[in-house]
This record gives sequence, C-alpha cells and structure tokens, in this order.
Amino acid sequence: MGEFDLIARFFQRPAHRAAGHVALGVGDDCALLQPAPGTQLAISCDMLVEGRHFLPDVDPTTLGHKALAVNLSDLAACGAKPLAFTLALALPRADEAWLAGFARGLFALADAHGCELIGGDTTQGPRNICITVFGEVPVVNGRSQALLRSGARPGDDLYVSGMPGQARLALEALQGQRSLPADVLPALRQRLEQPTPRVALGLALRGVASAAIDVSDGLLGDLGHILKASACGATINTSDAINSIAAGVDSTRPEVQFLMQLPIEQQQALVLAGGDDYELLFSAPPTARAAVQAAARASATPVTRIGSIETTPGLRLVDAQGQPVSGRFASFDHFA
Ligand code: ADP
Ligand code: MG
Repeated sequence: MGEFDLIARFFQRPAHRAAGHVALGVGDDCALLQPAPGTQLAISCDMLVEGRHFLPDVDPTTLGHKALAVNLSDLAACGAKPLAFTLALALPRADEAWLAGFARGLFALADAHGCELIGGDTTQGPRNICITVFGEVPVVNGRSQALLRSGARPGDDLYVSGMPGQARLALEALQGQRSLPADVLPALRQRLEQPTPRVALGLALRGVASAAIDVSDGLLGDLGHILKASACGATINTSDAINSIAAGVDSTRPEVQFLMQLPIEQQQALVLAGGDDYELLFSAPPTARAAVQAAARASATPVTRIGSIETTPGLRLVDAQGQPVSGRFASFDHFA
C-alpha cells in the first residue's frame, strides 16, 4: 500500500460528509475553509510522540480518539466551535490493522463534534501524530467572544469541570505504582485514554466566563497560566475544593469513592497536580453564578466552584481553618 492508497483508504471520506464550512476537503494542494461571516478562526496544534505521549502498544482506537481530543480541548478552552482539522502522520510502516483502528477512534470523535478532516501529510518515520484544529468564535460588536487566559479579575470565582486526578490515578496503576480495585480501573482508564473534551461547556461559557484554560498539566500548574496572564492571584481551600468536586461529579461512583478514601496528601496531589484530564478551569464574576450553573446544566457537565481570584499575586492554598497548606504537597506550587 503506497502513500496515496493509504490516504485514500483511511483518511479520505466521501465529500457528502463534509459540513457546510468545508468548501474543499482532502485531495487538492490546499483545503478551503469557509468560516461564517462575523466569526474568527481559532487554531490550535498538538503533537503526540510515541514514547513520550503514548506507549508503542497503546490501542490505536483510543489513540485516534485522544489525538483529536487533546486538540478539541484547546478549542473548548477558547469557547470555539470545532470546524475542521488536519492530520500530519509519521508511521514506521503502513500497518493496516493499526491504521483502521486509529481512523475509527479518530473519526468517531470527529463526527461527534461535526469536525471534518480536511487534509494532512503522511510520511514514513518514527510514529508521530500532529493535529491542527480549526474552530469558530463569533465577533460581537467588534469584540471577539473567545475565552482567554488573560480575562480573570480580582473578585471572580474560580471553577473546574469534572474531577481532575482520575487520569493520573489510571497512569499510576498502569505503570504499576499503585493497585486499584477491579471495579474502578476501567472508568479511570477511560479518563486517561479517551478523555472527553469539554466542547459543549466551553461554548456555553462564552459571555459568562472571564478566563479559561484546559487542564492538561495539572490544575495548579494550569491555574498559574491564568494568574500570570491575568496579573492576579488566587486562594483555594484545598479540602473544601476536593470535597465539593467529588460531590459535584457524584461521590457514589466507585472511582470517586476510591480517590476520596486516599490520604488527603494523595488526594491533593492527584486532583490539584495530576495532568491529562482535559477538564476546563475557568473564572467568572460572582454575578454570573446562576449563568455558570446554567452553562453546566446545558452542557451536562459537572462544574464546581473551588476558589477565588484576588489582587495579591501568587496562589494561596489553605485548609478548612484557613491555615496555609504546608508540607510535601506545597512543593507542587512552583509558581507562588
Ligand atoms: P502535497 O504533496 O501537495 O503536500 P500530499 O500528496 O501530501 O499533497 O497529500 C495529498 C492530499 O492528501 C492533500 O489534500 C493532503 O492534505 C491529504 N493528506 C495527506 N495526508 C493526509 C492525512 N494523513 N490525513 C488526511 N489528509 C491527508
Ligand atoms: Mg504532503
């Protein structure tokens, strides 16, 4: 199977599937995108490298899902509606079973979001997957509706979707650092290998959130990016936040119960510093509390208020008594 057969067989789909915003898809020298009048293109690119972002023996179907999911998550964090994506693929050889599985996972997620594959590049080499996504954000009265990292203001509430830390828990189990009860591993593994990009929530938060980011590197680390871009600080009451998050996502689920019976230091390390969950972390003014809840309901996504944005720079973690959280865990706060 040559390069062009491979593209035609696995990545070129009938034109009738293309949505209205794709004027020309795979097959020519360029694809043509037609964003709606009065909108901006939101563009993001993420690369997954074998050995660094995924193991050689990972299920290709889940890999296809994840490669696109991490990109859709960036669109979600900007409040952008997915339109299309390109796929640059380096493969050691044309392994048909691998390609079929990869394409299945990729297109299942793409179709769920109406996001069309419009082009790419295919080359022989160490396995490497690079996706660029294109999304659409309205411009209203000359103002972009995109959610940025820089919009947080003192007095804003801080929120997170879902329960970060589950992907890290799965990773630790898969790496043999931790044993998990049989009834919790599948759900946690799904979090790690097939994360749900919070696209619907991101769209619902346009005009509601003041700043947003997706949690790829850990909640506190990614919060640091919002604080830096917004020139603000924040306080989080860690045990309150973790308890509220667990209640928000449904504390009767076995994987949540498992996480919540771990020692508090481990809960904190997982929820506040574990990466790869692709939840949304965002701020909104207190006047928008009802609107945030409405956005959570409209997108069927659990959202929990975990802290507040303040004028004083730096991040302050406090316990239930308002005392600074100290000890080993404090070392995760590398940007205070
Ligand atoms: P060119 O030489 O002009 O860069 P290519 O021969 O690399 O074009 O690709 C031919 C067509 O197939 C182009 O439309 C390109 O966008 C598309 N394409 C190549 N690889 C992929 C891929 N992995 N997924 C989707 N489309 C692809
Ligand atoms: Mg090419």
